[in-house]
Amino acid sequence: MAANSNKLSKLTQSVHVGSKGDSLYGGVVNPIYPSAAYDYETEVRYPRYFNTPNQKAVVEKLVALENGEDGLVFSSGMAAIMTSLFAMLKSGDHVLFQNDLYGGTHHAAVTELNRYGMEYSMVDVSDLKTFEKAIRKNTKVIYVETPSNPLLKITDLKGVAKLARKHGIITIIDNTFASPVNQNPIDLGIDIVTHSGTKYIGGHSDITCGVVVSSKKLTDIIRKSAVNFGGTLEAQTCYLVERSLKTIVLRVQQQNKNALALARFMESEPKIGNVFYPGLKTHPSHAIAKKQMPGGFGGMLSFEVKGDPAKFLSKLKLIKRAISLGGVESTITSPVRTSHAKLSAAERKSLGISDKLLRFSVGIEETEDLINDIKQAL
Ligand SMILES: *Cc1c(COP(=O)(O)O)cnc(C)c1O
Repeated sequence: MAANSNKLSKLTQSVHVGSKGDSLYGGVVNPIYPSAAYDYETEVRYPRYFNTPNQKAVVEKLVALENGEDGLVFSSGMAAIMTSLFAMLKSGDHVLFQNDLYGGTHHAAVTELNRYGMEYSMVDVSDLKTFEKAIRKNTKVIYVETPSNPLLKITDLKGVAKLARKHGIITIIDNTFASPVNQNPIDLGIDIVTHSGTKYIGGHSDITCGVVVSSKKLTDIIRKSAVNFGGTLEAQTCYLVERSLKTIVLRVQQQNKNALALARFMESEPKIGNVFYPGLKTHPSHAIAKKQMPGGFGGMLSFEVKGDPAKFLSKLKLIKRAISLGGVESTITSPVRTSHAKLSAAERKSLGISDKLLRFSVGIEETEDLINDIKQAL
């Protein structure tokens, strides 16, 4: 099944892989198996061993969509990210992060790694030669995120994978913003793909989960740490994730289409300043994005309003002011007040995040309705 399924299109994979149905009654969907206790003479199964039927169904779908060999589903994106990092590192090791990270990952790195004797640095990845110079003798992991939050910067994944291989370093990517529909980093040589499944994978702003997809070998190593850290996902939520994944391609295709149309509209709108979207020809890394995101440029974009951003937000009727992203409904956040609130003003300034910046998670609504909502709010 797994071998052939790679030849199927993503639309078909998202519906069928891992969803074998109910052999007892002939139902077309997978049953929910809530059991936390299994007969140990058959196979030692336990939710925290990451091997229950509903966990496996989710993993099979994501492994197919990401072109990996194996994977794990976690209780949150941070559980997936931190478990992967800690599984690859030990005291004395160094991690090289790209400098524009999701706020939660930045905070976790800064507050946790040194306490465990691990070193890290955060370096601009836009020039790979400078980035390579930051590699140390004890660098074990390179960690990247593209498109980045909130400025939608693009990291050249093939370039990063190549230099990491040269130095024998493991690469981890946070692929949340792109989703498995638009970008498959394993195809480009990246070792470990992580997602906050709370976003596009769940897709309806009602599930918290995380995902790792990798080779068989690296997944086995991460699973050993995952069993100890315990960030497991229970059956009911796994079923909801599996259900969500059946429509991920349709959802993300509409989000790609809407985001591109909105970015183009905003670029021509005098009341809006800078627009950040990798699908725009004016984006500095548009050419790289086009190559490494064959499915589309994603549903995330950022922009600066020239007037008062709080006033603009309060006037929106359809688009909701909310944190998180990747849902079917359009939402907008102010990074200064949310994802990057934990950074100092100086840190934000160095990353280019202004007080006027708004981050837009584009939903699956009709394009014209979204454009009209923004027009009337401006
Ligand atoms: C939300 C998010 C995370 C963290 O995921 P949780 O599910 O909230 O733990 C990590 N990376 C990115 C890019 C995110 O958007």
